[in-house]
Amino acid sequence: MPLKFDLLVVGGGSGGLAAAQRAADYGASVAVFEPKPLGGTCVNAGCVPKKVMWSTAALAHGLADASGYGFDLESWRHDWGAIKTRRDAYVARLNSIYAKNIKAKGVTHITENGSFTGPRAITAGGKTYQGKHVVIATGGYPDRPEIPGAEHGITSDGFFELDERPERVAVVGAGYVAVELAGMFNALGSEVSIFVRYDGVLRNFDDMIRQELGDALAKDGITVVTEAIPAKAGIEPGGLFLETSDGRAFNDFDCLLWAVGRKPNTRHLALDKAGVDVDDGGFVLVDDFQNTGAERIYAIGDVTGRVSLTPVAIAAGRRLADRLFDNQHDRHLDYSNIATVVFSHPPIGTVGLTEAEARAEYGDIVQVYHSAFVPMYYAVLQSKGRAAMKLITAGEHEKVVGVHVIGDGADEMMQGFSVAIGMGATKEDFDNTVAIHPTSAEELVTMR
Ligand SMILES: Cc1cc2nc3c(=O)[nH]c(=O)nc-3n(C[C@H](O)[C@H](O)[C@H](O)COP(=O)(O)OP(=O)(O)OC[C@H]3O[C@@H](n4cnc5c(N)ncnc54)[C@H](O)[C@@H]3O)c2cc1C
Repeated sequence: MPLKFDLLVVGGGSGGLAAAQRAADYGASVAVFEPKPLGGTCVNAGCVPKKVMWSTAALAHGLADASGYGFDLESWRHDWGAIKTRRDAYVARLNSIYAKNIKAKGVTHITENGSFTGPRAITAGGKTYQGKHVVIATGGYPDRPEIPGAEHGITSDGFFELDERPERVAVVGAGYVAVELAGMFNALGSEVSIFVRYDGVLRNFDDMIRQELGDALAKDGITVVTEAIPAKAGIEPGGLFLETSDGRAFNDFDCLLWAVGRKPNTRHLALDKAGVDVDDGGFVLVDDFQNTGAERIYAIGDVTGRVSLTPVAIAAGRRLADRLFDNQHDRHLDYSNIATVVFSHPPIGTVGLTEAEARAEYGDIVQVYHSAFVPMYYAVLQSKGRAAMKLITAGEHEKVVGVHVIGDGADEMMQGFSVAIGMGATKEDFDNTVAIHPTSAEELVTMR
């Protein structure tokens, strides 16, 4: 006899745990399948350990600036192993908090991989479970290029396993993970090259952001190798090497890190047995309400390939539980205007359309306001950092459709602006807002 639950959740990451707990709050009987420590990618090999490393790197930048502020510091040395130990302990604490929280809500944790045996039937650890509803929340894993020697490189998962800082690093990839991890290595003392397939980093971002970040990377001594398509990797006496498809060879690396995207965890789910369809990349196809094509089977988070961010997976999971177990029939996540931050040095915050997207959507009625400056923090320093901001509006009433910021503090700036954009703020609303002085953020409400 199968074990019966109102809700079966496959995957105990950001989205799965959010859906499970919200459903349990409404009194549903819930089981979560998760063989690994609870919390998924974000907690174990994503946002959380990354932010610890970003803060470590930010401190290194601060130390480099300290003499300009009158501090007489001896030279410093960083112990990568020490912060890894503390970071791992913090992650383990979070894992156990998640375990406690779901236990307190009466959610059953099955510490096995789950896979489908039929519609809403899951097998795990030799037992079969039947759900009234099933949520697929299995996330993804970091990809590697299919080239000879790719196994010599690590991925973002391997980054978080490093016990010490490698001296010479090659990061392959142009997305936010590549940029962030490269920045952390660099700030802590590694010599870093980023290899990108096209002409620069962060291809989907506004051109201003891409240009400014490219300049900031160069200023920090990070080499960006463009038009570099990996063809072969390997190890030789001097270290790791990378060859590109146009015959260029780069060698003597201590670490080769692939940051070339993520693939969905759908291969081992036997989705065909449940009638769940995937796209060509293996991502589960869902509609606006997270419904798959199979009755009462849903998918949320990274496994759907739509805006792969933790708060998105959480929001989709909670809204789904509201709909299924609290009769909020129309409840679903609106995927537009989701703010995002890149934890580069300096950080980037962005919400809404890029200038190119806005022009494609609205044509001539787009207005662009731009500001670039040296933040006051650098006034007394020899080395000058920069901030740049762009406000994009559309239409007669100049509704703000995009805000893009690169500069210190951009990470903490964007949340409030995303509220304003979501509410339909206009340029006039921005102009009527009294500035906070002296900050970088005030530029956004004083643009002409
Ligand atoms: C390096 C890095 C940095 C990131 N930084 C940020 C950031 O700063 N901010 C942000 O918002 N997002 C960030 N992300 C993205 C974020 O981690 C993901 O968007 C988020 O974790 C997605 O949640 P999820 O629930 O969809 O999947 P996950 O959190 O990946 O959870 C999926 C879970 O399913 C489990 N699973 C897989 N198959 C099965 C199975 N068959 N049976 C049972 N369980 C299974 C897995 O073990 C995993 O625990 C980062 C990601 C990476 C890789």
